[in-house]
Amino acid sequence: MSTQRTPFVGGNWKMNTNAKEGIALMDAVGSLLEPQRGEGCVDVAVFPPFPYLMGIGAASKGGVVLGAQDVWHSGNGAFTGEVSTEMLLDCGVGAVLTGHSERRHVIGESDELVNAKTLRGLEAGLTVVLCIGELIEQREAGETDAVNERQIRAGLAGVGVDQLDRVVLAYEPVWAIGTGKTATPADAQDAHAKIRALVGEIYGQAAGEGMRIVYGGSMKPGNAAELMAMPDIDGGLIGGASLNAEDFGGIIDAARGSLVG
Ligand code: PEP
Repeated sequence: MSTQRTPFVGGNWKMNTNAKEGIALMDAVGSLLEPQRGEGCVDVAVFPPFPYLMGIGAASKGGVVLGAQDVWHSGNGAFTGEVSTEMLLDCGVGAVLTGHSERRHVIGESDELVNAKTLRGLEAGLTVVLCIGELIEQREAGETDAVNERQIRAGLAGVGVDQLDRVVLAYEPVWAIGTGKTATPADAQDAHAKIRALVGEIYGQAAGEGMRIVYGGSMKPGNAAELMAMPDIDGGLIGGASLNAEDFGGIIDAARGSLVG
């Protein structure tokens, strides 16, 4: 990756852990980071389940940012079951995921809803990790670039250039999520380069060059370094491997190594 961009590594715990396990995992991740603070600059966030945010946030150390897996797009009110940015901020949350493939394809979120959530998160001052990526049938039909373009244009609609430093784009080919299949570094680089060019086309070249674009899809300590060695891959969004502090730490180390490599 470019040394101009601070790598970002996020751990999406999905619907896993209980309160005790989550606190222990946050503690372990923080302990890995604490002694290395300041050496190689990597932004690290974890995204625990909603009910545990406050307790897990209290266990945060080493600069690990507390993240939320979702957010509702309006303020407090009559939205049964939803969680507002006010509540997230109250819990100490600093980042939120939008557009994760499980929310798009399992829960059924539209591009418009993903955009509304993205705008709301940014208005609240949160970092937003906007996830995009193609289904296997879209890849096989040669539609990868078109899907990424549609999801980026829709997801970022109304986002100002001055807000982009709090946006991280996560390219996550859906067929690689939780499957053990990973895009080759060359294929991932190809997608990332096109995504960066598109951000440059929309917001100007400097914005494209500054945008952090991370890869997600079965990233592990064993494949993270070769992926992050690619010039346009600025870190990772990690599912399964983020549930194990040692594996997650190995991926953070790979991100740190990409700065010097
Ligand atoms: C994810 O859910 O964002 C993800 C990348 O999952 P996994 O690492 O398990 O493929």
